[in-house]
Amino acid sequence: MPAAIITGSSRGIGAAIAKQFGADGYDITINYHTNKDKAEKTADTIRELDTDVEVIVKQADVSIPEEANSLIETTVDTFGEITHLVNNAGIDQHVYTDELGPDDFDHIMDVNVNSAFNCTKAALPHLKESKENSSIINISSILAFTGAPIECHYASSKSALIALTKSHARDFAPHIRVNAIAPGHIETDMVQDRLDENNQIVSDIPVGRIGNPEDIAEAAAYLRDATFVTGETLHVNGGELMR
Ligand code: NAD
Repeated sequence: MPAAIITGSSRGIGAAIAKQFGADGYDITINYHTNKDKAEKTADTIRELDTDVEVIVKQADVSIPEEANSLIETTVDTFGEITHLVNNAGIDQHVYTDELGPDDFDHIMDVNVNSAFNCTKAALPHLKESKENSSIINISSILAFTGAPIECHYASSKSALIALTKSHARDFAPHIRVNAIAPGHIETDMVQDRLDENNQIVSDIPVGRIGNPEDIAEAAAYLRDATFVTGETLHVNGGELMR
């Protein structure tokens, strides 16, 4: 059975992608950083689906190359192969540039960009071996395209993921397709405070609502299956940014 790894998938967008892929018949590795209970709960919701997929839960800080390697190796040892990698793990921080230190900048880049590189590099030989349509999906952000005044490091990291996506799409062709998703405002723990404080956000979204993690999971399933699509960024933002 094909197998997928979704980084940072104990909750939010990663959990929704894991559930969608599980429902679609993929064995799943749920990766978490600190919250084992939440990861186990997400795994249980997939096990309860009416499918015969297997789900494992694996702790790893994917910004550390050795831990990213261990995540990939555990998956291969368990399922025998990897067909899809979703680089979803990410963090955000709201600080104006005059208060932002170089360590803050590095930390965001480590978690949002280096982790995608680490997991991709470790998974590469296995994705190449896969006889299935195999792919990588990087979760970027609308802010890669608009910029963001109080999170320049976050916006920069998400922009770097777009260049990584295009570079790897060329590098790994024709064996592995590599695409990105640029979500707009999606209701998760990461943005909840901002959504609570700012009613203006919804009025800036033409479809008239905040996105939910399942909106991104549907986009991920599309990119997973779309065998003529590579190097692309799918914008899923309710029309907040039209390009
Ligand atoms: P979230 O905070 O609920 O999820 C992020 C997940 O990444 C968490 O489970 C967290 O534990 C995990 N993570 C963080 N650092 C990690 C590390 N070093 N190793 C492993 N896991 C780690 O937020 P979310 O909204 O579900 O975010 C998922 C992705 O979507 C992120 O990359 C985020 O930047 C991106 N995104 C979110 C929005 C939004 O509006 N929610 C918009 C654009 C992009």
